[in-house]
Amino acid sequence: MAARSRFPAGLALDTHKQQACGTPIVELALPAQVVLALDQGTGYGAEPVVAVGAAVAMGTLVARTDHPFASALHAPLAGTVVAIETRAAAVAGGRSVCIVIAGDGSDRVDDGVTPVPDADALSPDELAQRLRAAGIAGLGGAGFPTATKLASARDRRAQTLLLNGAECEPWICCDDALMRSAADDVVLGALILRRAAGAVRCVIAIEDDKPAAIAAVTGAIGRRRDDALTLEVIPAVYPQGAERQLVTTVTGVEVPSGGLPADAGVICQNVATAAAVARWATSGEPLLSRVVTVTGSGVERPCNVRAPIGTPLAALIAASGGYRGTPLRLIAGGSMTGRALPSDEVGLTKAMNCVFVATRDDIGARLGAVELPCIRCGDCASVCPAGLLPQQLHRAALADAHDALRDLGVRDCIDCGLCDYVCPSQIPLADRFRDAKRRLDEAAATAQKAADARQRHELHMRRLQEAATAEHRAFEDVRRRVRQPGDDPTDGAD
Ligand code: SF4
Ligand code: SF4
Repeated sequence: MAARSRFPAGLALDTHKQQACGTPIVELALPAQVVLALDQGTGYGAEPVVAVGAAVAMGTLVARTDHPFASALHAPLAGTVVAIETRAAAVAGGRSVCIVIAGDGSDRVDDGVTPVPDADALSPDELAQRLRAAGIAGLGGAGFPTATKLASARDRRAQTLLLNGAECEPWICCDDALMRSAADDVVLGALILRRAAGAVRCVIAIEDDKPAAIAAVTGAIGRRRDDALTLEVIPAVYPQGAERQLVTTVTGVEVPSGGLPADAGVICQNVATAAAVARWATSGEPLLSRVVTVTGSGVERPCNVRAPIGTPLAALIAASGGYRGTPLRLIAGGSMTGRALPSDEVGLTKAMNCVFVATRDDIGARLGAVELPCIRCGDCASVCPAGLLPQQLHRAALADAHDALRDLGVRDCIDCGLCDYVCPSQIPLADRFRDAKRRLDEAAATAQKAADARQRHELHMRRLQEAATAEHRAFEDVRRRVRQPGDDPTDGAD
């Protein structure tokens, strides 16, 4: 049954999905080399466990981590580690330490890669640990380790696993293609994730502009005969795929400001993440590849490609027929929330769901446009899905007024870019809010550092004081013991 969109606003955008979604997923041949960024887009990196010159097979662990926001990395091809160095990467700041592996053309697989026949017998905790070790991360664009979200859901006793198949960005259709071609994997992964999260039900949410995916997933659900596994068809409204908005649409519950979906009893995972979990369970394969949309008017044949993590984007663009015309910008992600990339030499990351080769026709209207003063039309507020007042937020951001930014709820801004999209004055509102959030974070970190330093100083002074007091007491003790009546020549001198 179709649900209504229940978040405050949003917009039905013109889509360009048909350009890439008309053909089956292209399986990319193993590239000659992969460039694995230790930071896969979350801002936190794993630690290499291999050295330059090491021989690796497909699935060999090459970087490990205990950090909750970083994920382990495995060699997606057999070959030799030829460099570990800082390179251009699809991360904030544009650079990350990368492990570069040159392939040897063989299909050697690491001995540790074996099917997981006991996945059903593992406890939720064991399952999560195994998924962490396999480097499974959110493939919907965020890239955070799946195990971390599962732990948070169990801690908060979330009862519903919400599988996100909304995919509302206008150019991206890799999830659509995956659901159409591997619906049984999506459903198998959903069941494993439901158990790992300790949830009792699973809802798969798909936007109503994906009829083939809806049909395929409906069939796969029917084959499972599980009453606690259902499909919800939701309206195609941007940004329906954002977690908070999706939770509200499907459950009617609002995620509290500053909270997580788990605070509303829901854990969200992407459909592609579920398919990766199914691959791990059936073959033991850690996260070695993903499906990515390569699109935009700047490529000859937009398509969806399954490619090894770390594949240089130039190879993905070549698989799409190469560059067309004069692309203006290479963007990781979609036209609304994507980020510009420094070059096509960067490696595909787990978080990258789209390589958008944009021309002036695609994004030109907003690119380099002259920013005009706000005319107070209110259009930005009327579309904001978070119910914010972008016009006022903008004024606070320009004044760097931290209290006002907090009071106006800048933290609830989900960077969807809709306010930019409608602003007749071409004000880059979303960028300003992103910067404002970064400055708030920096100010909070500086304040925390100052508080820590103050606390350390106070502790230090207290210890000095205690040491001085102890020394004084010891001295007085000694003095008392040695100063018997009559010993002191000054005693009774008067
Ligand atoms: S970018 Fe932020 S402020 Fe602008 S519409 Fe989206 S949620 Fe609202
Ligand atoms: S849409 Fe632009 S011009 Fe209109 S109120 Fe918002 S910021 Fe001002």
